[in-house]
Amino acid sequence: MIVYDLACDQAHHFEGWFSSADDFDAQVKAEQISCPVCGSVSISRQLSAPYVSTGGSEQTQEEPTAETAVAGVDIESLHRKFVEFVLKNSEDVGKEFPAEARAIHYEEKPRRSIRGEASRDDIDALRDEGIDVYAVPGLPTPPDQVH
Ligand SMILES: [Zn+2]
Repeated sequence: MIVYDLACDQAHHFEGWFSSADDFDAQVKAEQISCPVCGSVSISRQLSAPYVSTGGSEQTQEEPTAETAVAGVDIESLHRKFVEFVLKNSEDVGKEFPAEARAIHYEEKPRRSIRGEASRDDIDALRDEGIDVYAVPGLPTPPDQVH
């Protein structure tokens, strides 16, 4: 839609809405537009800039999408706490770890949390048997097991 500032020959100003400039011209020629004040059909367009309405819903600015991010989380500190937790809540079985893990899994030994040494292959093998094993990087090795 286009809105025009219109004026009659008596200088009465009013607005008119038209679907297009051609529509306005056609309506003026057909004398379908009359001044709401005096009824004159001698209408002219004023030289003000018309504005155009899109007719649809108002264009809304899209809300900026919030990025999910974390800042200030001390991963190393969290990991250290995790390691401390493991150390405090598990029994160190050292090199017996794979055997102990199996023994616990197959209920040959009482269920408990253990920690110890396991090679990558040991861990893979244990996992293949359905045993939950977590490789904990940074878990300190007891001094007598330092190679
Ligand atoms: Zn008029």
